[in-house]
Order: sequence, then C-alpha cells, then structure tokens
Amino acid sequence: DIFGEERKNSKGLNMNIISESEPFFAGIEKFSQTQWQAGPLVNGETLTGETINVVSPFDTNQAVGKVAFANNQAVELALSSAQASFHSWSHTPVEERANALQKLADLLEENREELIALCTREAGKSIQDGIDEVREAVDFCRYYAIQAKKMMAKPELLPGPTGELNELFIQGRGIFVCISPWNFPLAIFLGQVTAALAAGNTVVAKPAEQTSIVGYRAVQLAHEAGIPTDVLQFLPGTGATVGAAITSDERIGGVCFTGSTGTAKLINRTLANREGAIIPLIAETGGQNAMIVDSTSQAEQVVADVVASSFTSAGQRCSALRVLFLQEDIADRVLDVMQGAMEELSIGNPSSVKTDVGPVIDATAQANLNAHIDHISQVGKLIKKNQLPEGTENGYFVAPTAVEIDSIKVLDKEHFGPILHVIRYKAANLAEVINEINSTGFGLTLGIHSRNESHALNLADKVDVGNVYINRNQIGAVVGVQPFGGQGLSGTGPKAGGPHYLTRFITEKTRTNNI
Ligand code: GLU
Repeated sequence: DIFGEERKNSKGLNMNIISESEPFFAGIEKFSQTQWQAGPLVNGETLTGETINVVSPFDTNQAVGKVAFANNQAVELALSSAQASFHSWSHTPVEERANALQKLADLLEENREELIALCTREAGKSIQDGIDEVREAVDFCRYYAIQAKKMMAKPELLPGPTGELNELFIQGRGIFVCISPWNFPLAIFLGQVTAALAAGNTVVAKPAEQTSIVGYRAVQLAHEAGIPTDVLQFLPGTGATVGAAITSDERIGGVCFTGSTGTAKLINRTLANREGAIIPLIAETGGQNAMIVDSTSQAEQVVADVVASSFTSAGQRCSALRVLFLQEDIADRVLDVMQGAMEELSIGNPSSVKTDVGPVIDATAQANLNAHIDHISQVGKLIKKNQLPEGTENGYFVAPTAVEIDSIKVLDKEHFGPILHVIRYKAANLAEVINEINSTGFGLTLGIHSRNESHALNLADKVDVGNVYINRNQIGAVVGVQPFGGQGLSGTGPKAGGPHYLTRFITEKTRTNNI
C-alpha cells in the first residue's frame, strides 16, 4: 500500500464467462476489416511521408493499413520539441504525471477490443496473447505511476549539521529514447514509455517497424490521457534510419531498448561514439533459456509447462524455453507425452479463439527458422515436427518442432520461434549441465521441474539468470509480481515491472540552502 493506494493488477478477461466473452468477441469483430492509417506523431500531428502497406503475418493477402515512416525533418522536430518541453514536464508535479498514466490505463481498458484486434492482425498474436498484452500494458501504467510517486513526491531531507537545509531531489534525465520490439508491441512499448514519462523524462519512441500501428494507437491514447503532445513523440521507421538517428543524437538523456543482444551492443557503441553526455542504456535482450527436469518430476505437468513455454506465442518471447534438459530416467516418458501434446496444438489464424500457435512475424523470421530446423535436424535427431494445416499457406507459419541434440554448444544463437531443443543428462553430470547453461553467457529465464525442493533451490542458485520458475512454465512474468529481465548477454537490468526499474531513468540533485 503506497500513499494510501492499493494497486491491483488488471484482471483481464475470463473467457468462460459468457456474459463477458460474448460482448468481447463482438467488440473484436468490429475491427476485423478496419484499415488503420499511421505515421509519425510529432507534437500531436500525424505526419505523412513515404508509406508502406501493412499486411497480416497470418495471411499476407489481408491488408491491415498503411504506415508512413519518419523522415529526417520529423526526427529533428521530434527531438527539438522533446528537448524544449523537458523542463516543464520534469517540474510538473509527479501526481499529475501519475494521474495521466492512470487515465491511460483506463483508456487502454476501454479500447481493449480494438487493441487486441490490432495485435492479432498486425502482429499475428493469438487472442489470449492479446488479452495478456493489454493487461500487462495496463499494469505497467499503474505500477510506474505509483512507483514514481513513491520515489519523487517529496525530496528526501538530509542532515544539516551546520544549520543548512539539505534536500535530495529525484528528477528525469531529459529525452529518453524508447526502442521496442514487435513481440510485445503494446506492453513493452508502453512499459518503456510510461516508466520514462513517470520519472519526468520526455520521450521519443520508435516502435518495431513491423508493429508501427499498435504503437501509433498507444501514443494517441496517451495524448488523450493528458500526456502533452510535445512530451511524447512517436517516430516509426527502421533501426538503420530512425533508430540510428535518434540514438546518435547528442541531445538525448538515456535509451531504453528491448530487442536483440547484437542491436543493444550496436546502440551501446553508438552512444559511446556520439557527442554529448555519457548516458544510461537500459537493455533487455535475448536468451538461450533452459529448463532442467529431474526424475522426481511428474511427466504430464512437465509437458504442459514445456508446451506453454516453447510453443505458445509461436515461441516469440524472449522468456521462451529453448533447451530442455531431461534426466535420462524420465526422458522417454516425457518425450512420449510431449509428442502427443504437440499433436494437439491448434495452428492457424490467431484471431480464432481456438488457435494456440499463430504465425511468426515476417518472411525473414520464417526463412531463418525453417533453415535452422533443417540444419539442426541433421545435427541432432528430429523428435517431432507438426504438420502445418491447410489455410496457413499464405502466412508466415513455422511448424512447432522438437529436436534432440547432444549439447547446447551446437546452438549458434537464439532461435526466436517455436523450436525446442532437448538434451538428455545423467544425474551424475548435473554440474556439467549447469556449466553448459552458464557458459552461453545468456541469463534470462530458467525452468526447473523437481519434487525435491532442496535440489530445485540449489539449481536456482547455481544458474545465473534473471527469472527462475520452479514447477511451472517460464513465461508470462506479471508486473510487480515477477519483475522481468536478465543478466549477462540477456540485459543490463534493472527489471521491468520491478521496484528498481525507475532508478535508471532518473538523476539526482541536492539543494543546500543556507538562507
Ligand atoms: N515478459 C515476457 C514474459 O515473461 C517476455 C518479454 C519479452 O519477450 O521481451 O514472457
């Protein structure tokens, strides 16, 4: 209970309650043919320019709308306006900033059906993923609103031994550049933006180019909620153009990035080489996430959690399970049950509520994942590859696949899709398993299945990751409950949706008053 306000996470939707689900699906249906128009939102005005056609990843014959990418003038105007508005925004009482974010949370809930329809059509998300996406975005708004008030409402009074008044103020840093990924086009986009705004920064946000429309609608709602239009600027475009321009600008005060480790390193070099101050980079990047299953585990429960962790969201979560370590005594049993469970996965149009696995994001992702499946099935042994059903030919579908391999070392990088690698281990070699996982350098999520609690807790200590999940799936971190983010190659921290996240978005100022 912070400042007398109890925060509750958004409750989402229970699809089993007909009186809730009927109007919900009718609401989504209203947006099944909508053609959205999006573009840079600079000082609240939608700019035009060279446009691209947006089509659905599940059927490229289905148009979603058009997006204009930001040109150089848009970038310059967004940065200069965000700079000019910084002082007034950072000196706006934190309560007012927080109220705007609370209002944004309400507007997201009011517009839930449109946002979910858009997530399924532009990003290929399943309905359940869409529900979770809106819910997480709402939670971020409310969580950071309260955290900011907790940190910033009053200066901290410090001792004044000589009679001076000493106060410590926490303030925003300036313009925060927020660069977000397509796999959580609303939740991570708004998570970054609302953290930066709550802490008193102005924001220049670049969405992933694949999901510009979701970002555009989110920014429109933020403006409607009372975030001044010059304080929050929106620049759709590619990393090579818009991303490079905004991260190399000397006026910016910080960067928040979620995406690949390679791009995070590129941004880090860009920041170091540019003119201007030394500024923080908050990066949340990839993983090579493992689950370790020992022979005390219950095979059916393991399989349910493996399937959820590897194949839902078409494996396109950075938390997703990539490498399953099975103790050999239980391996055949688990793989047997798993093949049956994979067979049950419903693959297809994500706007159907039945669908478990939708498409991957684009043609490049599809081609890379299929190439990896071909390659790794040669290196290892194919366990199961689902048949893609009819009706998926015009989309970017990749068949859920499980392959047995000898060692994590045969994996060159993270493969961001519905592909599970399986490794058998002997109980006596557990130390090697831990070393193998740690030796990847990544450290995002770890799943453990064991009914021996001290064994599980010991593993949780020894593997260097940000989020450990014991006897459950390893995806879907909840804001304020499982703050999310990794170590090593997986990110800089602090964790999104956690009590320390805002500390990287702020600067401190002391005032000594000898009046
Ligand atoms: N927070 C998400 C989860 O726990 C993953 C975020 C991401 O993929 O970047 O599943």
